[in-house]
Amino acid sequence: MYKIGILTCLDSNDVCARVGCLSAFQNRTDFFKDYSEDTYLAALMTCNGCKETNPKEPFEDEGILEKIDRLVSEQIHIIHVGVCRIDDEKKECPRITQICEMLEERGIKVIRGTHKE
Ligand code: SF4
Repeated sequence: MYKIGILTCLDSNDVCARVGCLSAFQNRTDFFKDYSEDTYLAALMTCNGCKETNPKEPFEDEGILEKIDRLVSEQIHIIHVGVCRIDDEKKECPRITQICEMLEERGIKVIRGTHKE
């Protein structure tokens, strides 16, 4: 059985209830279409916020390090990253990129995408 999770932008919490991501998973559509019925959505996590509100980069942020430790101990295989990773100029947020690299270094596969983009 696969255990997966979703990573999103902290700022998107202001306007996003994760309905699109969760319904895509529940209905096995878009980036979740190849998962079997017994796949377990076991984790939801956000970044540690923008530099203006949190000067710590993800690699030195205790909260992010603790979250990644927990993903590893829970044996989460894959983290999907929401479309909120991309800014208005269509570039990926560098903090999300850094978190993705940290996840991969710990053996967790990263897939960029949840629902249709
Ligand atoms: S660092 Fe990037 S992903 Fe995190 S809240 Fe800011 S814009 Fe969103």
